[in-house]
Amino acid sequence: MTHAMTPDAIDDALAQAVQAYAARNPASQRQLADAEASMPAGNTRSVLFHSPFPLTMVRGEGCRLQDADGHWYLDALGEFTAGIYGHSEPAIAGAIAEALAEGLNLSSHNRREAALAHELRRRFPAMRRLRFANSGTEANLLAIASAVAFTGRRKVMVFRGGYHGGVLSFGGHSEMNVPHDWAVARYNDLADVRAHAAAHPGEFAAILVEPMLGAGGCIPGQPAFLHGLREVCDETGALLIVDEVMTSRLSEGGRVGLLQLSPDLLTLGKYFGGGLSFGAFGGREDVMAHYDPRHSKPWGHAGTFNNNTLTMAAGMAGLAKVLSRDALARLNALGDDLRARLNALCRSTAPRLQFTGLGSVMQLQTCGGEVRCPEDLAAADDRIRALLFFDLLEMGVFLARRGLVALSLPWGAREVDEFTAAFANVIARRRCLLQ
Ligand code: PMP
Repeated sequence: MTHAMTPDAIDDALAQAVQAYAARNPASQRQLADAEASMPAGNTRSVLFHSPFPLTMVRGEGCRLQDADGHWYLDALGEFTAGIYGHSEPAIAGAIAEALAEGLNLSSHNRREAALAHELRRRFPAMRRLRFANSGTEANLLAIASAVAFTGRRKVMVFRGGYHGGVLSFGGHSEMNVPHDWAVARYNDLADVRAHAAAHPGEFAAILVEPMLGAGGCIPGQPAFLHGLREVCDETGALLIVDEVMTSRLSEGGRVGLLQLSPDLLTLGKYFGGGLSFGAFGGREDVMAHYDPRHSKPWGHAGTFNNNTLTMAAGMAGLAKVLSRDALARLNALGDDLRARLNALCRSTAPRLQFTGLGSVMQLQTCGGEVRCPEDLAAADDRIRALLFFDLLEMGVFLARRGLVALSLPWGAREVDEFTAAFANVIARRRCLLQ
């Protein structure tokens, strides 16, 4: 169209947006400078860092966040899906206070862990037996280790763009990954899975899959693909490990429940601890039986905080008092409505933008066309994503720098309207850069 569409115009707009952001947020900038004295880049969660500096948040209420410079935001990130309850759910605060009053660190089994385990087993019947850990990463590490120990095999199939934790990341080459014998297949491509399986007959201990690639861009797994993985596992003797750390919120029984998919092992994390550190893994009785210390071949799995009473209490209060089937249905319907409205806006005014995802979780993409795997995002322009991120912050909407949006229970129709209006405003402002 005009010179405004040239790459320089995007670079210029982004440089101005960054400058305005820095000018609006001096306290966050100072906070990072102070943190840098002890932490590389002042950061202890890689995903949170972005240039020129991330916001420091000082307070959360409902689905609103306040930063160190006093700005309030609509929280559209929801702690990367872990914050489903929002920032101040009274049932959770009350349960934590009650557990705290009974004393911390009881050094033994306690009365709370079984209650939470029973409720998770009710919601996820594939978890015939389960155990707690402290993060989604840990849950996946233990599930993989279980599959390797159970089958006596070494290879593990994962998917390009898959993310299962800081040391289980398959977006690109990662020096940090644990040294299992990985085979990285293409997501939503059953032929590729079968080719990998055929190339190494009898060698796969497990296939590890997210029902929707989360960090890889909120790309839903096609039902036929996910059910096909079950078949490949049945044919090859590999265990199917489904990572529901992010997708469990799509229904009371997660996406496996919606699809009637039967994993051998399932992993959970995020909000099941009510907002405190959490992980869980579980599945087939014959596999999990090895965690019984009385088994003839027992596997050890200690972990000081696996049954910490605050997490157990907060997690159970959330499930028992707040996160009902209806509450999840309402939240996912709100998300579907938001995504439909945003995509209608994109189609009419900014066709190179779209939102992918399922229910209450979605991701801004900066390229059009069908997205079945991360390879379909090759034409994406991260500068556009950055620009829209800074513009939305200016409009009072907080989301992930990478474009992830996750609704939380305090959201209602008002918040959906608010986000949609802010996004409409931003794409109108940047219209000439988005054609
Ligand atoms: N699996 C998936 C699908 C995730 O999205 C994440 C975290 N974003 C993890 C595992 C790791 O969980 P944690 O950050 O609790 O270690």
